[in-house]
Amino acid sequence: MILIFLGPPGSGKGTQAKRLVTEKGWPQLSTGDMLRASIKAGETLGQKAKTYMDRGELVPDDVIVGLIEERTKAKDAANGFILDGFPRTIPQAEALKKMLERKNSSVNCVLSFNVSDRDLVERLSGRRTCSKCGEVFHVKFSPAKKADVCDKCGGSLIQRDDDKAEVIQKRLSVYHQQTSPLVEYYEKAKKLVALDASASPDKVWDTIMDALKKCSVPS
Ligand code: AMP
Repeated sequence: MILIFLGPPGSGKGTQAKRLVTEKGWPQLSTGDMLRASIKAGETLGQKAKTYMDRGELVPDDVIVGLIEERTKAKDAANGFILDGFPRTIPQAEALKKMLERKNSSVNCVLSFNVSDRDLVERLSGRRTCSKCGEVFHVKFSPAKKADVCDKCGGSLIQRDDDKAEVIQKRLSVYHQQTSPLVEYYEKAKKLVALDASASPDKVWDTIMDALKKCSVPS
């Protein structure tokens, strides 16, 4: 089972992918999370990636493809995975296709998360992330019980550098230019299932459960 969550930043891909991990046990491969972990660990790869991330730009394809290739070799990914935030360009999608073909495998389904830019800006600018465990909150839609403190681990909540207003606009324009062509790419491949991701997380979850029935994904 190989599932792609495709959508702009702030469309809820990560939140829904985490729920699938909990309920189905499928590992979530988030390139954004991997890059942030690499930055936190002080690795050279992370330091290089940070310069792109802070500007709201995409990290070069070869770096990202290398990361995913390594991660998919891990034992927990042997029976499939959810790709969250990858691929983000046509060359990344092509590299993924080739990588899977070498293993006689292919993508089962691509869920395309649709949300208006106006809602995305509101979601991203209010997003707060735990600096310790990565749990995500929102100042308006899902505030922490105690301001700036993570409900889950007590860590301090921060605003990601790339969730700041000036970077958000850049990330959205990068999405429209470089990532949205993947909608057509996967539509042509008959893998795409579009969903309205503007509703509440629970409603979107129900939509995902329905969408998965349209894919050749084991339930
Ligand atoms: P995310 O957490 O998915 O929003 O990713 C945060 C940032 O990491 C993005 O704005 C990019 O700079 C970088 N990034 C994550 N995934 C990719 C990818 N597949 N290709 C290129 N850059 C990526």
